[in-house]
Amino acid sequence: MTAPDPTRPWSAHPLARELDVALDAVREAGSLCHEVGQAVDRGALAKPDRSPVTVADFGAQALVCRALGEAFAADPVMGEESAAALREPEGAALLARVTALVAARQPGAGAGDVCEWIDRGQLAAAAPRFWALDPVDGTKGFLRGGQYAIALALVIDGQLAAAVMGCPSLGTQVADDAGDGTLFAALAGGGAWQMPLRAAGAPRIMRTSTVADPARMRFCESVEAAHSSHGNAARVTELLGVTAPPVRLDSQAKYGVVARGEAEAYLRMPNRADYSENIWDHAAGALVVTEAGGTVTDIAGKPLDFSRGVKLAVNRGVVATCGPVHAAVIGAIGKLGLAG
Ligand code: AMP
Ligand code: MG
Repeated sequence: MTAPDPTRPWSAHPLARELDVALDAVREAGSLCHEVGQAVDRGALAKPDRSPVTVADFGAQALVCRALGEAFAADPVMGEESAAALREPEGAALLARVTALVAARQPGAGAGDVCEWIDRGQLAAAAPRFWALDPVDGTKGFLRGGQYAIALALVIDGQLAAAVMGCPSLGTQVADDAGDGTLFAALAGGGAWQMPLRAAGAPRIMRTSTVADPARMRFCESVEAAHSSHGNAARVTELLGVTAPPVRLDSQAKYGVVARGEAEAYLRMPNRADYSENIWDHAAGALVVTEAGGTVTDIAGKPLDFSRGVKLAVNRGVVATCGPVHAAVIGAIGKLGLAG
């Protein structure tokens, strides 16, 4: 028998190769994003829905879709971005910048390759096996110098199977400097790990906090009040007797923070009746938390349903906790009497 490899504790899992490929892809995309993040001009433009997108979003999607296409040619990708804006004449300068960033990591890549790779991520309806990708989750955080994540998850028969989340600006603890950044990984039934993103380092298994008293909860929520109602989260935590102030973080880094036991809960309280969450904003993070021992549902306590296509169409909001406090949090949300 060979000794277990400390750098690949998941080596016996049936999806070990998928995880290896996803980790390499997210590391490569994370290095591109980190480079763009250090630049003064992050190459931002507004999408038709007025949300921001940057050269990092395009470059990261190109690199991840390229890697997945090479390793798993039959797997479709449901990604957030499309190359449409880069193919317009006005997008030429942006495309040149994205191409240079991609070619620095994939020598020989040209503008045509970049657009083609990005547009591999255009799956719109669920398939029996597909990848969900947010190349830069938390773009507003990325532009502000806050947290952001490259979030990639494999969905098989509507269930989360594998997840990788790269957080280039997240240190070993939220309060620390970014250090080498953090890479999170999870496999269904296999566990959840964190490791450095920009350095070698053995993956360390993660377990959620064992705090069971809701009053002792530390909770995270979005920086952007437009994405999650700070007021309703404050009402919920007040009902539970929580005294710690919220930890506000952009992106799915919030799931990573709950998974590694640094907070007991992540609350995403809807503040618009007509908004359904995007699958790529939650797929990777949700598996990371559940495999670390936590619980993830919507605000009614229903499991998140990843089989509906781009949207979590039958869910509202998200509650991710360490586990023991979950029922109390859902109970307190129920007392708010939110419509729908
Ligand atoms: P966060 O960094 O946690 O604030 O989440 C960023 C994500 O929020 C983006 O990727 C968007 O897809 C998503 N988003 C945009 N508008 C809303 C909204 N009204 N409610 C919830 N999430 C939103
Ligand atoms: Mg996102």
